[in-house]
Amino acid sequence: MASIVLEGISKTFPGVKALIDVNQKIETGDFFTLLGPSGCGKTTLLRTIAGFYRQDSGHISVSDQIIDDIPAYKRDTGMVFQNYAVFPHMTVYENVAFGLKTRKLGAEETRIKVANALAQVQLTGYETRTPDQLSGGQQQRVGLARAMVIEPKVLLMDEPLSNLDAKLRVDMRDEIRNMQKQLGITTIYVTHDQEEALAISDKIAVMSGGVIQQVGTPWEIYKNPVNTFVASFVGDMNFLEGDVIDSGDNSVVIMVNNHKIRTADSDIPLKKISLAVRPENLSIVKEEISNNDFSSLPGVIEKSSFVGSLIRYTVNCGDNQKLIVERHKPQSEALMPTGTSVFVKIPVDAILNFDKDTGVRI
Ligand code: ADP
Ligand code: MG
Repeated sequence: MASIVLEGISKTFPGVKALIDVNQKIETGDFFTLLGPSGCGKTTLLRTIAGFYRQDSGHISVSDQIIDDIPAYKRDTGMVFQNYAVFPHMTVYENVAFGLKTRKLGAEETRIKVANALAQVQLTGYETRTPDQLSGGQQQRVGLARAMVIEPKVLLMDEPLSNLDAKLRVDMRDEIRNMQKQLGITTIYVTHDQEEALAISDKIAVMSGGVIQQVGTPWEIYKNPVNTFVASFVGDMNFLEGDVIDSGDNSVVIMVNNHKIRTADSDIPLKKISLAVRPENLSIVKEEISNNDFSSLPGVIEKSSFVGSLIRYTVNCGDNQKLIVERHKPQSEALMPTGTSVFVKIPVDAILNFDKDTGVRI
């Protein structure tokens, strides 16, 4: 059981600031995910916590003890890598037992611990196989068992599912999540896949350019993004540009392509802003609507695609402003053909406002 504290962590590689002043506490037993696009610093942060890299500045504590000067092999962390990293010439049993050998455990204790770890990842009976006799998913389970068998205080996982196919990825993320909760090991998990992050995490830190942009529960990150980067990286999001022309009592009227849209925020500065609204909150209607709860924008259906559980329309509202609208639970109605003139109905309380210049939430 361990909490982790990162204090002012920076790391520079030649020509690249990989981490810039990262400050974060990770609570005991949490499943904490670092989410962000390729190159944003996720692996660097994970490897710094594991002790494979030394930060240029700042401190890392585990259970209130600073571990900056403790070498990787003494840090009591289990690590699971993207590319399995199982030893090809060793059997499943030997792979899992490896971490225990270096800890000089007795034969009987080793046997029991390996058996437990293999049972945990559903590989009982595979002890004598070598990695080339296993599927990708099974190899990754060996990697998991090997990390967990040493009963680390902290489990670190770097995109462990990214080499698996889509269906297996979903199954294994549920298994990883269940296992983590059962064992209660504080876990830091790295992924670039926002859906995976939402599904698996207690908390998510969204990263960009070596900086943590926002930390929160999956719900908070999705519902209350602090800037346009987070808003667009997590889930699908539409953006429209407009000028605030009246920032009255409770709602503000904004001109988008000469049409007025109401938002729920008050006291917005009279300047250019970005309005963001998720496709699932929009709907297509035949007539213009404008009241305290809804606004609408006229447009033309430019594209429609039926993807089983929903229909996704792209509506061109002119001036290069396009809106994706999702129609869930499509009924027997035909797809609306390309070229149909429609209105997009926008609920006032579904709109998030961002400063056009800084991208910061208003
Ligand atoms: P992520 O895991 O989010 O894709 P990384 O942490 O691997 O990102 O990389 C962050 C940045 O640091 C990138 O610009 C990457 O090219 C650079 N970088 C990472 N590792 C090294 C290294 N060992 N040497 C030089 N540059 C590196
Ligand atoms: Mg990486």
